Amino acid sequence: MSRDSLSKIETEVKGCPLCRLSQTRKNAVAGEGQISSKIMFIGEAPGKNEDQQGKPFVGAAGKVLDRLLKHAGIDRSQVFITNVVKCRPPFNRVPHDDERNACRPYLNRQISLINPEIICILGRTAYSSLVGGKTITSNRGKFIKKDGRKYFLTIHPAAAIYNSNLLPVLQNDIVKLSEEIKKEKANNHRIDSAFEEVNNH
Ligand code: URA
Ligand code: SF4
Repeated sequence: MSRDSLSKIETEVKGCPLCRLSQTRKNAVAGEGQISSKIMFIGEAPGKNEDQQGKPFVGAAGKVLDRLLKHAGIDRSQVFITNVVKCRPPFNRVPHDDERNACRPYLNRQISLINPEIICILGRTAYSSLVGGKTITSNRGKFIKKDGRKYFLTIHPAAAIYNSNLLPVLQNDIVKLSEEIKKEKANNHRIDSAFEEVNNH
């Protein structure tokens, strides 16, 4: 068997027939970013814009995410961004368990290929799918470790669109994530590529 790769996964995802979401999608959205990424961001599912363009987080929620990454000094091109399911659910409903399970091997393969230093969980769907969590609102802002993997928990950018009080909450969380990664870098951990150099400004 040939070695696995992100492009192999992308090709499989683009033609994937494994759940009912394949029948209504326009474009499956495998994810975006480099294999060398030290951080992965994992959302819920593609929305309308993502389905149209075949890329993750390019609609309104993506604009919020872009802005907050920039604010925190994290370069979007240095992180890997994907979702729990790779195809848009009709009317953006929450993906069902059988859909998440059918799609899970793709996400698992992406995680093992990239082997990120930390996974940033965006919202409740990723929280429940990845670590079995229930209430993201009372657990956001936490760093957790599970089965040897590190996660940072925060809310979904779309939540900050529906409730503008949550925007500074998400903003602070992303800064906190960025600070932690800088700290780990200073301690000689593997993390190093996700940051703009801020020293020489
Ligand atoms: N919401 C998500 O969870 N993922 C996207 O890619 C876009 C919006
Ligand atoms: Fe396949 Fe995942 Fe799309 Fe379902 S959501 S059709 S499992 S790629």
